[in-house]
Amino acid sequence: MAEGAGPGKKTALVTGAGRGIGRAIALALAREAISVVLLARTKTEIESVSSEIALLGQQALPIVCDVTQPEQVAHAVDAAKERQGPITILVNNAGSSGSSKFLNHDDSLWHRMITTNLDSAYYVTKAVVPMMVNANWGRIINIASTASKTGGKYTAAYTASKHGVLGLTRALAAEFVSSHITVNAICPGYVETPMTERSVANIVERTKMDMPAARSFLENTNPQKRLITPDEVAALAMMLVSDDARGINGQAINIDGGALMY
Ligand code: NDP
Repeated sequence: MAEGAGPGKKTALVTGAGRGIGRAIALALAREAISVVLLARTKTEIESVSSEIALLGQQALPIVCDVTQPEQVAHAVDAAKERQGPITILVNNAGSSGSSKFLNHDDSLWHRMITTNLDSAYYVTKAVVPMMVNANWGRIINIASTASKTGGKYTAAYTASKHGVLGLTRALAAEFVSSHITVNAICPGYVETPMTERSVANIVERTKMDMPAARSFLENTNPQKRLITPDEVAALAMMLVSDDARGINGQAINIDGGALMY
């Protein structure tokens, strides 16, 4: 099989780039002189990340887009391609979390998790992957979760959506291997982001725990007794983007202090 050369100028698209893990990955890509397209619904947040990237002397293009809406995704990807050229690095990071007991589970929570965490990755990948096939090179990184590999109570919808992300990762890794595209998943445990702040607030609301106790409850799910930082996840993403990682394909890499060992 001929080795894919990789494009000279690289453009990346990061979904959910306005805060948390997506913001950290966008900044890490920019530090490597990769131009970055930033997608999320909150304009002020992606514009703020875009300004941070401009301060690094790099290019960013913020586009407001709800990645659960295929028409918006197609429109955003077309606009990105026109302004920044073909996208050969995709980070499917946008997502949301929610929990509920399964008895009397609200259908809207189920659909929100599947749509935001799984359908979005499908829509965005479908819109972007033809550019990678055309370039004969690509990197797709799906921000999955330890919930892609194991189940925890009260998280049926989130867990099912994240298991789905892993299935999508593996199938596409097999399908696009001959185009020198790698497709991998990163599976973090709890990360220090606004999403985890909301999880702490939920625990406080639903139990008798106070804020510090709720936070240590989440920290204790990691054998290192801490939350993972967004920069640690970004560093792993950058490793997967590199040419040296071309042999890593269809993998789901945990970053959780050793909570899962499979
Ligand atoms: P945050 O809530 O901090 O950030 C989520 C980002 O996704 C925001 O930029 C948000 O922007 C965007 N987003 C959400 N819904 C949509 C949508 N419909 N369309 C476009 N953008 C959207 O989350 P994290 O940074 O913590 O999480 C990022 C990813 O990492 C998620 O997939 C999450 O499941 C996963 N993860 C997180 C863990 C954690 O502990 N935090 C652990 C394991 C995995 P906006 O709302 O403006 O659209």
